[in-house]
Amino acid sequence: MRIKIVLINDDNDYHKFLNKLKIYKSIFYYNTKFIIENNSDSNIEPIVTALNIKNRKKRIAYIYNKACNMINENIKEPNICGFKNGKCHVQRKQKSGKCNGCCRKCLYQSTAGCTTKNLACKLFNCSEVTSRYSVTKYEDIEILKLLSIKNRLIVKSDYFSKEEDVLKDLYCYTLTYSTIRIVYRLFRNYIFLLKNK
Ligand code: SF4
Ligand code: SF4
Repeated sequence: MRIKIVLINDDNDYHKFLNKLKIYKSIFYYNTKFIIENNSDSNIEPIVTALNIKNRKKRIAYIYNKACNMINENIKEPNICGFKNGKCHVQRKQKSGKCNGCCRKCLYQSTAGCTTKNLACKLFNCSEVTSRYSVTKYEDIEILKLLSIKNRLIVKSDYFSKEEDVLKDLYCYTLTYSTIRIVYRLFRNYIFLLKNK
């Protein structure tokens, strides 16, 4: 296997490296092991780890889990949605009779919160939350640049789904097939909620 040393001495090197990710993740670097030197940015190490995972599914799963962990680690306030007696900031402000915030329409909600790990949901914050806290945004997670355009769309929009299903959507090769799977699950979710009203 060839070795590619990635030297990050300053911001300029950092941005050059990010700009080259498209080529580094391509077939031309399939037999290349990346080694990072002089790096002080914590975002780079996971990107290099992902580049060194040559199996497509394993790389996607690593990126997905790493992005979820990064969001969790950046949260300074555990109750960012301000839940009190099951109602979030918005539901209390609107004096709504509903509970469980955005999760109220999802199969995977529970009294203890979300029972799965959904990246799109983790990235979503309404204006009530963003006006109170500085939150991690999609653009802050550089490792997501390693995903294809189709998969970037999916991680931003695949709400109300369990981790295993999102990963299968990401593994699919076409957006059409992933979209059919997503729409089918939304429909199944809707039916489940109708039955349990
Ligand atoms: S994101 Fe906003 S609407 Fe959704 S649960 Fe949090 S506070 Fe409520
Ligand atoms: S998958 Fe999303 S909408 Fe469903 S319970 Fe988890 S965080 Fe809430």
